[in-house]
Amino acid sequence: MFEAPAGAGAVLRLIRAERATTRSQLTLRTGLSRSTLAERVHSLVTLGLVNEADGPSTGGRPPATLEFNPTAGVVLAATLRPNFCQVVVCNLGATPVFERTYESAMIDPAAVRTYLQATLEHAQVPAQRVWAVGIGVDSECEQDLRDALPHLHDAPVLVDRHVNLRALAEQWTHWRAVDHLLYVSVGTTIECGIVSGGRVHQGARGTAGGLGHIGVPGHAHVPCACGNTGCLEAVVGGRALAEQLRAAGLEASSPADVAALARSGSADAARAVRSAGRAVGEVLAACINFYNPGAIVLGGELAVASQHLLAGLRETAFARSLPMATRDLVVSPTRLGEDAGTTGAAVMAIEHVLAEAYVDRVVQRRDNGV
Ligand SMILES: [Zn+2]
Repeated sequence: MFEAPAGAGAVLRLIRAERATTRSQLTLRTGLSRSTLAERVHSLVTLGLVNEADGPSTGGRPPATLEFNPTAGVVLAATLRPNFCQVVVCNLGATPVFERTYESAMIDPAAVRTYLQATLEHAQVPAQRVWAVGIGVDSECEQDLRDALPHLHDAPVLVDRHVNLRALAEQWTHWRAVDHLLYVSVGTTIECGIVSGGRVHQGARGTAGGLGHIGVPGHAHVPCACGNTGCLEAVVGGRALAEQLRAAGLEASSPADVAALARSGSADAARAVRSAGRAVGEVLAACINFYNPGAIVLGGELAVASQHLLAGLRETAFARSLPMATRDLVVSPTRLGEDAGTTGAAVMAIEHVLAEAYVDRVVQRRDNGV
């Protein structure tokens, strides 16, 4: 039951989650009268967000079912990297329908606006079909972009870091039943995206998940780019591993090289990745005890060598965690891979505009003729 009468947004939420798909189920779940529910459904059908389909013909007159219509509009999902920008037009179910990649030595907010508009033109999508824009960025340019590009036409622009969007994408596509998920990215940097109750946990200043700068005991002599010493990332990040392998006479200049060597059977590389997994696992054990996640998903450039990384990680993460905390914990390599970031940007945009309060405002504006 709802405290205030359920609005159109709440009705849409139940339909999207398929928790109630007929009018009688919806009146039961929301406590609304049949006539008020009919108004809510009418608003959603008018917006194109809901279709009413005939129910299965099982004799008698079957109740019509209400379905979410992901083609009611689109979102733009963009991924910004230092020298390219990928823009994907997705429907409201996060399914890509059009994609463009722009390369440039300098990508600033003005360029991003141009790329977004150019993509819409190429895709022949009118601006009023765009409900929202989601953009994945490196942490450095997050705030600049937010300030410079709050809207594209009338659509809100949402910005978040790649690692958070990857976490969101993994949870949304493969781990719906898991409310508390950690996405751990191991590459040049070591970062963590935290999804709690289906939402990204940002922390007070948006820096939550800084796994790479947690200190590893016994490495106080290793300097880190952050200015501190002994950080996990400085000790076992992709750069440190590549350096370690070069010292052993192997050719490795990036985390991708390290992963490739480990996969091709180099015992030195496999050992290095496994030992990195152990160090990450030790830090993760503290996170597991503290946060009690239901799933940990492993991504990043080194996750390509996931068997060695996972083996090391499991050794220490499980050994040092409370048995209750790990009883149902699943640790899994990413299933989305590199596409996760763009999917996550789309999901961020979709969840923003299909949130209950947002849908209620859209309905109200429409009723007022604005
Ligand atoms: Zn550091």
